[in-house]
Amino acid sequence: MLHFPVFLDLKGRVALVLGTGEVAERKAALLRQAGAEIRFAATFAPALLESCAIAIGADAAEPELLALAEACRARGIPVNVVDKPTLCTALMPAIVDREPMTIAISTGGAAPVLARQVRQRIEAVLPMGLGRVAALADRFKSAVRRRLPDLVARRRFLDAALSGPAADLAMAGRDAEADRAFVRALDGADAAPPGIVHLVGAGPGAGDLLTLRALRLLGEADVIVHDRLGTEAVLELARRDAERIFVGKSRANHCLAQEEINALLVRLARAGKRVVRLKGGDPLIFGRGGEEAEALAEAGIACEVVPGVTAALACAAGAGIPLTHRDCARAVTFVTGHRRDGKVDVSGLVRPGQTLAIYMGITMLREIRDGLVGQGLDPATPAAVVERGGTPQQRVLRGTLETVAAEAQAWVQGGPALLLVGEAVGRGSHAWAQAPLAA
Ligand code: SAH
Repeated sequence: MLHFPVFLDLKGRVALVLGTGEVAERKAALLRQAGAEIRFAATFAPALLESCAIAIGADAAEPELLALAEACRARGIPVNVVDKPTLCTALMPAIVDREPMTIAISTGGAAPVLARQVRQRIEAVLPMGLGRVAALADRFKSAVRRRLPDLVARRRFLDAALSGPAADLAMAGRDAEADRAFVRALDGADAAPPGIVHLVGAGPGAGDLLTLRALRLLGEADVIVHDRLGTEAVLELARRDAERIFVGKSRANHCLAQEEINALLVRLARAGKRVVRLKGGDPLIFGRGGEEAEALAEAGIACEVVPGVTAALACAAGAGIPLTHRDCARAVTFVTGHRRDGKVDVSGLVRPGQTLAIYMGITMLREIRDGLVGQGLDPATPAAVVERGGTPQQRVLRGTLETVAAEAQAWVQGGPALLLVGEAVGRGSHAWAQAPLAA
């Protein structure tokens, strides 16, 4: 081992920073985060090291840095001189901060850039709320020790509890519920743990448009309940041995009625499973996520909603269409193409300065056009249909409300498609529309 990692408690202690430029500022900011008091100086004098816990040589002149390094070494004060490994007795690692958890990465000065890359990868896989889980464990430290005096039993319990529902709730910032779940788990430390359901937005169907939180939950789920819009690319990223239940919901072809899906989710959670209910786009936009969350709440089951990139956003970005525009669109409306009874309803939708993003509208496109035109919308208003937006298979049909209404039904190839209508749709730039990515 080239260097021995330790974590310094710098609260209220003095850190000397030699240099006054940008590098010095950056290092000082990091040290301040750890509670250190910064003593800045442009030139070195031994008196500066008085009661100093650590010293950093930043953007000062070379002889000053040499003098600093030598004096620190003589006094046993850890010193780091930026970009001069031979002068250092301490290295500044790349830091992942999940207070109270801290991860420090060092390449021993060999390749700081590599350390930063590793840091980025760790940042991506470690949930932001991980520190809250550590804090949860800390709150119950003595209670757990009392309840489970045996070390092996304690470890086994903490292993499960710190990756179970209490931990999920803590990570979501719901501390009071997390504490209750933890107490419940501790009370029944020998019984099966209670389950939880995460209503997770899968985005438009491209694996890399998933949120980091969704990715983590997919990796931890016992069961994944998905429908057609859950799409293969996203399921690919799920835990291999997770059970998958298809409840396919393409329009007019419901495999399971909504009530049956609700009941299934309740049953799985009651059996102690960690359930991911994967829903296309965002769960709360035309996804009945609200109904499922309500059913779970009624059954007393913990539930968390994880937002996803909704189709309108993915289609707009993919087709290079601004949804709002300072010249011509100060509002955007997400609306469904048909009502619960299957009829088209466009009342109140024609207003100046608005972009319409119409979900589930393709089969009724002509009726929608007639309705909008009947309400006074110009049939020459720019419009686009985007199929499988945001995925490598994306296709875009551009034109006016009149032309896309005439062409769309023959043009779509069976994928989900969204209709965008409004002046802003015509401002879209082909220059920033994304060509289909390689699959
Ligand atoms: N909750 C989803 C919408 C579900 S309703 C969301 O937030 O995106 C289903 C409708 O969404 C489809 O009929 C289609 O209009 C639209 N849709 C979903 N994914 C799409 C995609 N990748 N490209 C275009 N439209 C999509």
